[in-house]
Amino acid sequence: MNAAAIDYIISRGVCICGEEIREGSSHHAHLIRERDFLPPQSIGAMLRTFQDQIKLYETLWDYDNLNYPNYPSKSRAVKT
Ligand SMILES: [Zn+2]
Repeated sequence: MNAAAIDYIISRGVCICGEEIREGSSHHAHLIRERDFLPPQSIGAMLRTFQDQIKLYETLWDYDNLNYPNYPSKSRAVKT
């Protein structure tokens, strides 16, 4: 089952259980919710989560107190 199959079921207006699908009904809402867990939407959801995590780490990272003891400074790297 993929998201397109759910879209087809919604567009034909009849659920797999035989119930009519009307927008705003619990049937419709449930199908939409299920669709969000199916590919390709699940890839989008994973990317959103990853982007949110990057944003979180950026806010936690303290740029003013970065310290790389084993990393040569720029000026030293240029002199050689
Ligand atoms: Zn149903």
